Amino acid sequence: MYAPAGVKTSTEFPIPDTMKAWVLGDPGELTLKDKPVPVPKRAEVLVRIDAAAICATDLEVIYQGPPAMIQGGMPFNKNFTPGHEYMGTVVALGPGVDEYKVGQRVAVEIHAGCGQCKRCREGMYTSCHNYGHNYGDVDKGHRANGFTTDGGFCEYQVNNINTLVAIQDDMSDEEGALVVTAGTAMYALIELGGLVAGESVVVSGAGPIGLMAVAVAKALGAQPVILTEMRDNRLKIGIELGADAVVNIRKEPDVVAAVKKLNGGKGVDYVVECSAASKAVNDAVHMVNRGGKVCLAAFAHEQVPVDVAHIVSNNITLYGIRGEGKSAVHRAEAFMRQKRFDASKIHTHTFPLADLPTAIRYAKDRVDDAIKVVVKAKLDAAHKVAAE
Ligand SMILES: [Zn+2]
Ligand SMILES: [Zn+2]
Repeated sequence: MYAPAGVKTSTEFPIPDTMKAWVLGDPGELTLKDKPVPVPKRAEVLVRIDAAAICATDLEVIYQGPPAMIQGGMPFNKNFTPGHEYMGTVVALGPGVDEYKVGQRVAVEIHAGCGQCKRCREGMYTSCHNYGHNYGDVDKGHRANGFTTDGGFCEYQVNNINTLVAIQDDMSDEEGALVVTAGTAMYALIELGGLVAGESVVVSGAGPIGLMAVAVAKALGAQPVILTEMRDNRLKIGIELGADAVVNIRKEPDVVAAVKKLNGGKGVDYVVECSAASKAVNDAVHMVNRGGKVCLAAFAHEQVPVDVAHIVSNNITLYGIRGEGKSAVHRAEAFMRQKRFDASKIHTHTFPLADLPTAIRYAKDRVDDAIKVVVKAKLDAAHKVAAE
């Protein structure tokens, strides 16, 4: 029975000594194994993972490697468990933890910065200067579960209390797994972008982050919010989440002109680039007005040419966004608690944790118009009960 010294548990939430965990072998190869249930240290809790969503970045990690960094290198064949968008229930408290209670439901941010480097001190812990320097030695403080430490495609994981956001009981597990996605959009638009109400925003690409950027921009009072994308079904969800106008780039080859037409003939204040299309960055640079800002939220797979002279002569800012930061996720949860938008509109499929490869295939190949695909360990139990 799980009873590590100094760790507080409850008989209401019995914890086994070992758990099921997916482990990354060669690129694209995942195996379900038994692993010891990890033990929380100071300022950490053990979270029973109730739902884990699959993110495009998980696919990057599983098939390509980066941005995961294990023992200073690629994450393959290192007994590493990926998965970084999850939520769950606190089931054990590390020494000295009184900020959370056993039984409390939480959304989980992934990055716990070291807390002592320059960027962590600024609240930009996803840019922690100790990133990736600590696998197997978490005493350095930095953890990015699913990137530098074991992640969420398993039954239990350890999280620093600074990465937790308490959620209300009326929020579903699936929606809880999307709080951080909304937090990322919040961080992009407010903390890094400086958006204020009434400014105009284009979101290019209606993946999960793009759709959440539409919802958050609208909830923040942006006007207009324009979504550009090539799939009509995604544009429809964008409208449901608050887009004032949409452009189907397949039907509108000059997307820059189409956006300006929708904004009274002018460029917009912000573009959030979520499509990873190589042409999209240069289009974004030409969609913003003088002094406008372009947020890059998608991983391009090749070098992208941009019109630097146009950027310079028009005071345009380009900035990358990684994950979340400062209090963005807490504020995203507050928005969701107020029902300012319905993040569950981007959740399309749920599979048992044991079916992770199927879930990944749905997410990767967008089977059945999949957007956010979630796996749940408890679903396994439910199915097993049904089968007996
Ligand atoms: Zn993600
Ligand atoms: Zn740091």
